[in-house]
Amino acid sequence: MHWYPVFWNLRGHSVLVVGGGKVAARKVKALLRSGASVCVAAERLGAELRDELEAGRIAHVAGRYAGDVLRGQHLAIAATDDPDTNRRVAVDARAAGVPVNVADDPQHCDFILPAIVDRSPLLVAISSGGQAPMLARHVKTWIEARLPCSLSSAAELMGGLRERVKARFSTLPARRAFWERVLGGPELTLIDAHRVRDAWHELEQGAEAAPPPVALVGAGPGDPQLLTLRALQLIQGCDVVLYDALVSVSIMELVRPEAERVFVGKRAGGVHTPQREIQRRMIDSARQGLRVVRLKGGDPMVFGRGGEETEALSRVGIAFEVVPGISAANGCAAYAGIPLTHREHAHTVVITAGCAHPDGSEHDWSALAKRRHTLVFYMPLHELDAICTQLAAHGLPPDWPAALVAEGTQAGQQVLLGTLSTLPRLAEQREIASPALLMVGKTTALAERLHWYGTPRLSRARNANSAMPCTPCFDPQPATQEIRMNTLDTAALIAPHGGRLIDLVVPPEEREGALRRAAILPKLALSTRQLADLECLATGVYSPLEGFMHERDYRRVLREMRLADGTLWPIPVVFDADAATLAEIGNAAEIALSWHGRVVATLAIAEFYRADKALEALAVYGVDDAEHPGVTAVRALGEFYLAGRVRLIDPDLHGDFAAYRYTPAQSRAAFARRGWRRIAAFQTRNPIHRAHEYLQKVALEGVDGLFVHPLVGQTKSDDIPADLRIRTYEVILERYYPQDRILLGVFPAAMRYAGPREAIKHAIARQNYGCSHFIVGRDHAGVGSYYGTYDAQRIFETLAPEDLRITPLPFENAAYCTECAQMATRKTCPHPEEAWLQLSGSRVRDMLRRGIRPPSEFTRPEVTELLIQGFISHLYF
Ligand code: SAH
Repeated sequence: MHWYPVFWNLRGHSVLVVGGGKVAARKVKALLRSGASVCVAAERLGAELRDELEAGRIAHVAGRYAGDVLRGQHLAIAATDDPDTNRRVAVDARAAGVPVNVADDPQHCDFILPAIVDRSPLLVAISSGGQAPMLARHVKTWIEARLPCSLSSAAELMGGLRERVKARFSTLPARRAFWERVLGGPELTLIDAHRVRDAWHELEQGAEAAPPPVALVGAGPGDPQLLTLRALQLIQGCDVVLYDALVSVSIMELVRPEAERVFVGKRAGGVHTPQREIQRRMIDSARQGLRVVRLKGGDPMVFGRGGEETEALSRVGIAFEVVPGISAANGCAAYAGIPLTHREHAHTVVITAGCAHPDGSEHDWSALAKRRHTLVFYMPLHELDAICTQLAAHGLPPDWPAALVAEGTQAGQQVLLGTLSTLPRLAEQREIASPALLMVGKTTALAERLHWYGTPRLSRARNANSAMPCTPCFDPQPATQEIRMNTLDTAALIAPHGGRLIDLVVPPEEREGALRRAAILPKLALSTRQLADLECLATGVYSPLEGFMHERDYRRVLREMRLADGTLWPIPVVFDADAATLAEIGNAAEIALSWHGRVVATLAIAEFYRADKALEALAVYGVDDAEHPGVTAVRALGEFYLAGRVRLIDPDLHGDFAAYRYTPAQSRAAFARRGWRRIAAFQTRNPIHRAHEYLQKVALEGVDGLFVHPLVGQTKSDDIPADLRIRTYEVILERYYPQDRILLGVFPAAMRYAGPREAIKHAIARQNYGCSHFIVGRDHAGVGSYYGTYDAQRIFETLAPEDLRITPLPFENAAYCTECAQMATRKTCPHPEEAWLQLSGSRVRDMLRRGIRPPSEFTRPEVTELLIQGFISHLYF
């Protein structure tokens, strides 16, 4: 902050304005409004100031400016059109100890005059510190439009009542509760003097300011735009929000930042927070005078236990309000193009639960199975087969239309259209997961014609992957009634992080033009680290990032492991530059990036900012210690970060491992070709020892395929180099792994050694590559003894279910047990550690260097041979 803002009381004090033109007149007007007595020194007065003089509102010193007019002045403002005179005023004022402002010349100012939005006594002052006056003016207009004029009288009245309210309520929470009731939430348009007066009269008549009512708020089916205005008001004005798993991340983003967020949904492992505990939290918080919002997916009164919760509140005499939300039935119907009622097809809508009733009673199937009904089953997945069978058994034809809508209204919405006889199998094939809604009835078939959500993007999309955001599951011209799925094979794979696979690679046919345009841009040579990040950004490994991070993302990633929009993101992805480089770039809006002298990409610079390296080291690595290789690397970066979108013009960046360089789009296609849906990824920067092989094969028992994905970007100098490692993988995978169940790829990222945070980044990247599971062993991405052995596993437990889709597969330390005569972990072996064959990484390296072979139970002999050759040939000392 270069300027310190103050509001100055000028009432009755004299202020000198030098200059008689329009600019001076503007300053004089504002000064008069503040009650200052204004003296204008000018040879001639313009029309506006003449009027003021005639009205007796200003004093005038005529003639050429002379320093003595400064005597007795509180402030001086130089506003002539002659820069020399203005500067003289500045010099004289300083000599006389009078603070001075020179119009349009911040260098000579002691104070500057902000743009003002005046709702006195409420004042908003806006300044860009003289850097961007147009921007400040723009912001002023923006605020002007949003602050109703009624705020003036409301603020005045509030000022008048302040002392009385203080006398009436002795404690701060009670006073706050009163004012909150007056203000009623963040919607400023609702605040006016009437409201303040009414609240006061109510109080006068003896009503105690009751604690604010607990609000049961429906969050709707997921799309934040479907929140009600009241819901928005409440979540932006609350102190505590108790939310469950159905409330989407983008809605949680709208909650007041200071509010405490309490997750009371299904926890990892499928266990629900007990209802009694939720009610107890609600009641306790309300009794402390806090504004409590109980935020639920959909509508609180539709399978939302709103009835129980309001009963609990009413039993203990706590007031409440219930804000309806758009229930899944409405949201899914609208977004899937399924009318719930229809003059020709359906006159009755039945909303019911698909899962077993808590009291054990059965549905009255004959009453449900009517041709003019649209049936909506919430929570249908466990009983899908049974529901469809029963409806068919009680009178509906087996080919009666039915639909499943999963993640309705959200980016990942899927709509499956089928019949009572086909839908259960389709759902299984497509691995439809909760939340999903089953709809049965003739109206569901209309979706084929009436769907709208997501499809335009599909038809406009250039390639398969950019069509992913809405995953619309309709084939534009379905051949049969049975399946209306997106025809893209990859649609069955896990969605990318943030819902969309980013593709910033310039298409081949546009490359030449892009290179020509880039040739005239300022050129910067990429560092190895920057190149790795650039490649990951451009090919979607870092989806949803579309470029190097802006400061707002950078700061929030450090503080909360989230992007500014709330998406989980653990480690900054930044483009560093030093001051000299910045000067070289000047104010270019775009630069070309080169690798080995060849332009390979462009960066559109949206902003640059100063790195906060100490904070970055502590936040990302947990220490600010020069011994930590991640911290050393951060310290070596330039002190500024450039932010903006990248375009990769030339994706041929490397001469090595070409056969293994899958981009996320390519690995997804490879998985789909093999018919894999569940894929476990294995990240490594080491050769595959027996322990790794064990983890991989245990994982492989539960999934369709294994993606062995060693990191080949920059590592520490004492890590085993990538080409040697890759040779070991090739040998082992070929001899000991089923070829149709594995894929070897390379991961171009550079190692950060950030332990837990890096484990999350590795998991996100693998989700983007299309993997559903991610193996996290001991000491993942760790170094030295900076992190606990299992820290990188525990960090996943702290995430809310909606933060990350890929499933971590945590594994204990594995080793060969001589008693069991097989590989084992603490979970599978009863013998003491002495029975285990364990060697540290550095010990193994030392053995290899000296040509000593570690036991074959530790590393397969083929790997040992390759490593010893590598060391002996002196390549890798
Ligand atoms: N109170 C919520 C329902 C909670 S019960 C409401 O009014 O919508 C949870 C069930 O709601 C889920 O199992 C699923 O059947 C349905 N559901 C909620 N949100 C959904 C969504 N976005 N898409 C599909 N089904 C949804």
